[in-house]
Order: sequence, then structure tokens, then C-alpha cells
Amino acid sequence: MAMARPDRSLAFIALIFATTVAMGCLAPSGGIAPDTIWLNGTIVTMEGDQTAQAVAVLDDNIVAVGTDAEVGPLAGSQTRVVDLQGRTMTPGFYAAHDHFPGSGRVAVTQVDLNSPPIGAIENMDELVAALGDRARDLPEGQWISGRGYDDTLLAEQRHPTRADLDRASTTHPIYISHTSGHLGVANSLALELAGITRNTPNPEGGVVRKDPDTGEPDGVFEESGGMVSRLVPPPTPDQTMESYRVAVQDYVEDGVTTAVIAGGGRGTLAGLQRARDAGILTFRIITMMSRGSPGQPTAAETGGIISGFGDTHLKVGAIKIIQDGSNQGYTGYFTEPYHTPFKGDPDYRGYPRRSRDDLVTMVKELHEAGYQIAIHANGDAAIDDVLYAFREAQREFPRRDARHRIEHCQMVRRDQLDAIAELNLSPSFFVGHVYYWGDRHRDIFMGPDRAAGISALRSSIDRGIRFTVHDDTPVTPVNPLQLVWVGVNRLTKSNQVLGPDERITPLEALRTVTIDAAWQNFEEGIKGSIAPGKLADFVVLSDNPLTVDPTEIRDITVLETIVGGKTVYERPM
Ligand SMILES: [Zn+2]
Repeated sequence: MAMARPDRSLAFIALIFATTVAMGCLAPSGGIAPDTIWLNGTIVTMEGDQTAQAVAVLDDNIVAVGTDAEVGPLAGSQTRVVDLQGRTMTPGFYAAHDHFPGSGRVAVTQVDLNSPPIGAIENMDELVAALGDRARDLPEGQWISGRGYDDTLLAEQRHPTRADLDRASTTHPIYISHTSGHLGVANSLALELAGITRNTPNPEGGVVRKDPDTGEPDGVFEESGGMVSRLVPPPTPDQTMESYRVAVQDYVEDGVTTAVIAGGGRGTLAGLQRARDAGILTFRIITMMSRGSPGQPTAAETGGIISGFGDTHLKVGAIKIIQDGSNQGYTGYFTEPYHTPFKGDPDYRGYPRRSRDDLVTMVKELHEAGYQIAIHANGDAAIDDVLYAFREAQREFPRRDARHRIEHCQMVRRDQLDAIAELNLSPSFFVGHVYYWGDRHRDIFMGPDRAAGISALRSSIDRGIRFTVHDDTPVTPVNPLQLVWVGVNRLTKSNQVLGPDERITPLEALRTVTIDAAWQNFEEGIKGSIAPGKLADFVVLSDNPLTVDPTEIRDITVLETIVGGKTVYERPM
């Protein structure tokens, strides 16, 4: 990894180490003065449970942390001194698994089909109307794409079909994706353009749903929407830049200073690089690269780059593999059947994306080559596959501290957590599910017992597992403080506690979006806490998540977001 450190702050930090006093602060001395000093704050450092009053920054690095009396005298004549007036400052937040700039892309190029509390669509007529409105604005023949519908939140309690979408338009091809991203629906024109007919077989690891009476495709795709969505024209360069601009604002408004993109293709790095050159990427990005099937090179491999390549602003992360689907889409892969049988089949357990053998082949090859690997697995059967593959890879090519990840890891069993601890794996839990879908996991998909164990944060901490939590934006809106709130309270949308034994403390929850997220990305030496030598990424909050009433953590507002010592967002007064 190439990591540029400005010379001035390096010299300054060296000075600190020579004269260190309590909490990593330094005694006043001559030479270079800090660019900025924040004083009179409640600074939650995330170095253990320490708080400080003041922090000094030179270039984009922290050079001193301590009391006002310790740090204040470091100011030189050119130093900007900011009075925090007692407000709380924490390290900047990680968005540990997102699909940046997905939220911007939805806003700029797609029809938002989410239901409350995220969006406004409550029934099929409203969904059709939203798509129909877009059709009226577009010339015939142009594609319409939408995202975020949720069959279990629509009044009709079912997926839209081609017939529903044909009501919106028969002269525009339409493709919409489910909130999970694992299912999608096409209208008749889109099916025709994609050549999907009654004779189209199911692809490996996916289903092209057919009408049981007529045998014709009903428009719904499970884990195979790419058969149609590949035809949707990519956004124009202008639309892409606008998507980045809109998405960056979404993230910095919520205090995110590093977003991890959970998968990318050939153009991902190039697009990010262009956005960076245009000055749009005011925060930091780590992007995973996707791998679809065994033997297929990743975008990273075709460019000859590996996990860790890049700098502190834009870096390549893990290689992303998907092993199953979405539990609320009935494509998560389980050892026990779903609570409510799928299409009346009491034995239905979902399915994996590929065989265990194929997964092992992929994981071994990447592991040996030195990549960090992140595998999406929601159901416990998929997690069994993942654990088997990582164990085989480590057995054949022992590698210390690989920090391989399991993405979402929602229905992990307790015995699997033992294996995760033993193999030193790091889950990223989609804990927002407890709030958004928890009631339906309990009542529909998983049943009360299994649902109580979703996102097993306490059980993980008890085993010494380090993990992160995420919003999977644009699946749910980016909101790290809400994730902390869910981890602490585990309240569902109907205000019931789901799995009280898995609640964690506010400090533990804050670790999952700061220091532990830095660790998960091999960045604990430069990010995740407020300590001398680390990057000056901070948020200023309206209240302290560690001392406020725990049920009010998500009501805390981000007042200011600071990346590398520079303010990138300030809440309008
Ligand atoms: Zn994701």
C-alpha cells in the first residue's frame, strides 16, 4: 500500500514521540504550529474509553490530543482555534458495506419505489403510477429503471409482474429491482428485448419465474435480473458525475468519512478516479471488486492490482463474492426451511449461488494470491459453505491475519460464530434489518426463535470477534448513528425488541462504525480513533452517543464532518 504522509506533520509527530505526556499529547515547543486546534470539546477518542478536550491537526493528520491546557498552548500565530463549546466530537464514521454512489444513482436516474419509512409507495397502483409518470417524461423506446420495491410492504403482498408493469408502459422497456437487489421485474417489452421466453431455462443459481398456468415468464427474476438489466444503458458521464455529487452529500451529512463499496466492476475505479479528479470525492473510498464465477478474472486482476492498492482517499479493498441471496426475498440459503413456506413448499430452504466446490476453488485461488476476500452469505447454509471454503484455503495456504469478511452474516448460528472466531474472520452485519424488516423476519421469514438471533452482535463480542455493521445503501439509507441505535436497542419498526440478548453497549456499537471498521479494512493505524499520527477525520455531534438516553441515539444530528482536517459538511443553522 502506498501511503503518502505530509512531511510537516510527520516531523511534528516525531517531535511528539520525543516529548509525549499524558494521552499522547506533547509539551509546547517551538517549530511548526498546528493548522487547527479544536478546544473545549467532549472528544470521544475511541482509544479505549478515553475522552479528551482538545485535538490539534497539521495538514491532514492529528498531531496532539489532550486537555485544553495541554493542547491549547501549541497554537501559533497562524493556527485556527475552534471552540467546540462542549459539543461531542468522535472519529469520522465508516459505512462498512454500501453500494456508493447507489443513493445518488437512484436519485438521478431511477424511479424510487421504496415503501415507508424509506419511500412513499404503498400499493401496486402507486408503483405503476410512479413508473407511468416517468414514462410520460421519456421518449418511447427509452428504458425506465426503478429500485426499492418491497413485496411484503405493498398492500397486495406480492411482487409486481410483467402485467403490472405493462400498465405503466408497453412502449418503454421497464426493469425494476427489489429492495434487496436480489430480485427484479421486467415488463413485456423488456422481456422481448432480452429474448426471455417460455423456453428460457433457469440460469445457475437463479430462477426465471414462469406463470404456473400459461408457462410464460411472469416477469420476475430471482438472482438473475442481469439477464434483463444488462440491456439498461449505463448512465451518461454527466449523470454519473451528478450521482457521485448527490451521494457524497448523503454520506457526509451523516458523518461518514470512509465508505466501503461492497463490489465493483471494470469501470468502478475509473469512475471513482474521475470523480476524485473533479473534486467531487470529498471523503474517502475503499472499493471491493466483484468476482462472479470461478476462473473469471476480477476487475482488480485485469488491472493487476490487489487488496490495499491505492492511497488514503481511494483504495482497493476485498474481492467480493456472493454465495446466496436475500432472506426476505426467499433466496437466502438455509439448513432449515423458511418459517412461512415459499409457494406452499414446506421443505424450501433457498439455494446457493454456486456449489461448495466451486466456492472453494475461487476462495483458495484468491487467498493464495494475497487478496482479502469478502463473501456475501445471509442464510446459515451459505455461511457453512463460506466457513468450509475459508478453512480449506487456510489449511492449504496458511496466511496470518487475512481478515476475510462475511457480508451480512444475518442468520449465523452460534456454533458458526465459534468457527468465525477460530478462523479470525470478520463479519459485517446488516443490523439495520432488525429495524426495517425485523417484524417480518419474526412473523414471516424466520419465525420468532431464529429471528431473535439475527445479527448476533453480543454473541460475537463474547467470542472476541471484531465486526462492523452496515446499511447496504441504497438498500436502506446511509445512517451510521441509526446503526449504533439498532445495535444498542434492537427495536423493530413496530417498536418491539427483537433478540434482547444480542444488544450491545453504546461504546461497543460505536466501535463497529469507527475503530473496528478501520481494523476490518487494515486501517487501524491511520483511522478509526482520535490519536496522534492518525488522519484527522472527525464528526461533531449534537449530543454524546455514550451518555444520551440510548433510545435517542438515532436522534443525534451530525453538525459537522471533517475529513483530513477540512470541513466537508456543516449543518445549516
Ligand atoms: Zn451489499
